[in-house]
Amino acid sequence: MNMTVDTGCDALFNNYGLRQLSIVRGEGAYLYDEEGRRYLDFTSGIAVCNLGHAHPGLSAVIAKQAATLLHTSNLFFVPGQAELASKLAKLADLGEPTKAMFVNSGTEANEAALKLARRYQTVAKHRPEKTRLLSLPNAFHGRTMGALSVTPKVAYHEGFAPLVPNCVTPATLADVISAVDDSVAACIVEVIQGEGGVHPFDKAFLAALADKLRVHEALLIVDEVQTGVGRTGTFFAYEQLGLQPDIITMAKGLGNGMPVGAVIARAGVADAFTPGAHGSTFGGNPLAMAVANYVVDTVSAPAFLDNVQRLGSALERILRNSVKGVSGRGLMWGFDVADAGQFLSRAREAGLLVTQCSSTRVRILPPLTIDNKIVAEFAELLSKVLD
Ligand SMILES: *Cc1c(COP(=O)(O)O)cnc(C)c1O
Repeated sequence: MNMTVDTGCDALFNNYGLRQLSIVRGEGAYLYDEEGRRYLDFTSGIAVCNLGHAHPGLSAVIAKQAATLLHTSNLFFVPGQAELASKLAKLADLGEPTKAMFVNSGTEANEAALKLARRYQTVAKHRPEKTRLLSLPNAFHGRTMGALSVTPKVAYHEGFAPLVPNCVTPATLADVISAVDDSVAACIVEVIQGEGGVHPFDKAFLAALADKLRVHEALLIVDEVQTGVGRTGTFFAYEQLGLQPDIITMAKGLGNGMPVGAVIARAGVADAFTPGAHGSTFGGNPLAMAVANYVVDTVSAPAFLDNVQRLGSALERILRNSVKGVSGRGLMWGFDVADAGQFLSRAREAGLLVTQCSSTRVRILPPLTIDNKIVAEFAELLSKVLD
């Protein structure tokens, strides 16, 4: 069997390099390649397909909406946006009336959040000097110029300078807190860094940061693009850390594969986007809203989230018994290996798909709909890979 399928194509940009596998079909937690080989998918399309692949309820919603109305643009009111915004406002619980707007990806959600923070400070609050945007060491917030400017990974910056001015990533967490002063518009934070290695921050650090931001009237933006939509066992990961963000960004799991992102903010902040201040042609289109409403209804059910917590604990126990450097929450875990590239190939050969976040760190992100049987199957495959 030839495991290194050359899926290259001369007509494609090479920005993803050569892929090892070509997937043509999915069902639940399984993916199938062109030769019909089956893989247990512990990537979920990078925390996207939280309900698994080809989910029958979701497929029906898509088919129905596709036969009704795909897109109108924001020239017209989209009822699904109002419905979804109300649900997200209730789930976010930001301590005052809360609003949402819709975009198409995580980077776009963050881009909008950064623009909103600057506009709130400089226009709504009349503080023209308050424009600095802080981010954390090891953060990942996306690839557009704004999101990239708060993503400190040097390799991602190469060849793209100059980035957006007044974006600062201090070297250490203590330096981040020291850097908060009256010039800061906002600080953007992932409460568990996904690309950064699945490391949850500790409660005391986040509380100290939130306090200092409050003192200086700077906004707290929580990037829930990867951790949101039930991934960590609560609808949002920040709920477990006693935080109250001013702005939340979401994407990945919100559409289960249909591109959709959201920016949620308390009304006092959201209202800085007056008519015409920001927009998107596709953002919040009827198809994306039908899908996201279905996903949010399904995932926010208490029994669904309980199951994520229960299976998450089972998975954690398996990992702690077999590998080192285990960290994460819910169904989002990272662990150390000697060579992540080699681990991924061995896993693929065994029929298990996982992702890496560095040359020595592996990340698993199973669909949230898995059961005990799948957790047992994972344990068996993992022991084969480690053998
Ligand atoms: C994936 C990710 C993004 C970027 O989202 P895209 O949809 O790829 O643009 C931003 N923030 C976090 C935390 C992410 O994991």
